[in-house]
Amino acid sequence: MTKVVYVNGTYHRYNDALVHAEDRGFQFGDAVYEVCEIKNRAIVDEERHMTRLARSLSELSIPSPMRIGAWQRVIQETVRRNRVRDGIVYLQVSRGAGPRDFLFGSVETEPTVVCLARPHSRAAQQANAEKGISIKSMPEMRWARCDIKTVMLLPASLAKEEAKKSGAQEAWFVGADGNVREGGSSNAWIITNDNELITPAVSSAILRGITRTTLIDLIEREGLTLVERGFTIEEAQAAREAFITSASNLVMPAVQIDGKPIGNGHPGITSLKLRASFHEVAQMRQLAGS
Ligand code: PLP
Repeated sequence: MTKVVYVNGTYHRYNDALVHAEDRGFQFGDAVYEVCEIKNRAIVDEERHMTRLARSLSELSIPSPMRIGAWQRVIQETVRRNRVRDGIVYLQVSRGAGPRDFLFGSVETEPTVVCLARPHSRAAQQANAEKGISIKSMPEMRWARCDIKTVMLLPASLAKEEAKKSGAQEAWFVGADGNVREGGSSNAWIITNDNELITPAVSSAILRGITRTTLIDLIEREGLTLVERGFTIEEAQAAREAFITSASNLVMPAVQIDGKPIGNGHPGITSLKLRASFHEVAQMRQLAGS
């Protein structure tokens, strides 16, 4: 569990880590975030995550609260204080606090910055991957700027709850054109019977996942065929393999979509191989002292 949380320059015990009641992240979802994997006391793909954080802030005109060196110190210290060897580090920046107003002018404070870290069990994650997950599809109900990593996660939360009720672990949002966009908190992939790896092309309809980007490097290194295009649920159900990608789940095989088994109903060999090789291409920055 998380023991210590960084809030606006100070490290607090978990139960004492507070932000203002009129923080705009709380009232308007006016905040962005990042989740990075920690593996063996190294942060994975930090540069790509920090570049995306800077872009999310800039798209919402939230001033950047600190430079990269300061972020690195906060991340390192948060991971160290929480004694995380394998897990995740979470960063959130809101526009700040001020009397509730749709316009930004009432913001009276600097951006609110939160950083926390949490351990997870690599063995349990690997066991999940060897079992595979089930997916439930549902109509897209989010906004038109899913390329910005904001904390407006209520649609994803509702979708995941609905997926859970049907025994699935992830929801896939399907657009009005019938094509899968992405998961509630992951990008969507299939591998066709012709051995092509298919994932939707980046646009404002999906988040450009960092795991997706690094996996594309691995696909290129392995000489596999990548096609960035939409696919339907029917095509996914007929595919040889399917999987999702995210920093907290890496490459996670899917074995069922809307109750129909994918391939032989077991995690695909290519998906598991890509999962096993992922960190050979990812950027790793060792964190001292954790
Ligand atoms: N798509 C959505 C909607 C997400 O929330 C996430 C991760 O949280 C992803 C994709 C995967 O992104 P990443 O690989 O950077 O974790």
